[in-house]
Amino acid sequence: MGEQSNLLVALGTCACFGGISGLRNLYQKQEVIESCYGQTGDNNQAETSFSEDVPALLDSVQPVGKIVKVDYQIPGCPPLPGTIKTVLQALIKGEVPVLPQRSLCVECGRQQKELLKPTREFISDSVISFMELEEIDPEKCFLEQGVLCMGLATREGCHARCLKGNVPCRGCMGPPPGAMEQGAKLINSLASVLPAGGLMFMEDIVGTGYRYAMPSSIIPHISCKENESDE
Ligand code: SF4
Ligand code: SF4
Repeated sequence: MGEQSNLLVALGTCACFGGISGLRNLYQKQEVIESCYGQTGDNNQAETSFSEDVPALLDSVQPVGKIVKVDYQIPGCPPLPGTIKTVLQALIKGEVPVLPQRSLCVECGRQQKELLKPTREFISDSVISFMELEEIDPEKCFLEQGVLCMGLATREGCHARCLKGNVPCRGCMGPPPGAMEQGAKLINSLASVLPAGGLMFMEDIVGTGYRYAMPSSIIPHISCKENESDE
């Protein structure tokens, strides 16, 4: 398709960055299959598909841009219809589409006033845990309430839709421009707002910081490491 196209647009966060399923790059292919479907007892199972309707699992998940040249990206899980329309309209007019450039915190608009306290109440993976809290102030930054929010390391442009529902951001828009390493951006950003030692309470920094963008990171893929050792 790339060869036949004058212009290629990666649509959605999976196409742009690899998406959530890209976290499987941390594991061997056979491990992934056994984790999902149980012990197959067949080491060749990973090389074959489960049925003729389902393609065999590839060695790793890759963003489109690592396979062919991509001209523009429209991130989002899912991408906003308005964003798709804006990009298409610009391309039809022969213009360069411009996506929002800042971090989600700008779009969010919640109050940020206090320095965070490095306590065990700072919740590392908030999506289940934050529901256990008695109250979340909808006007106040999640981080200041002890709930991890990925807004610091995420591109704006989703209209802050989770935050408007009083749910912290998980980073589905991918990293802001100029920060392809979303997890590293998270660590860097948190280190600047947490007092020293605060990061030690994070339990799953890769699964949190790279939830949507693992395949576009420079972290080596397990499958690639295996192939190198075979050679
Ligand atoms: S960290 Fe989250 S809640 Fe806080 S300002 Fe940024 S996007 Fe909003
Ligand atoms: S708030 Fe975060 S997780 Fe929710 S849609 Fe926006 S970028 Fe995605």
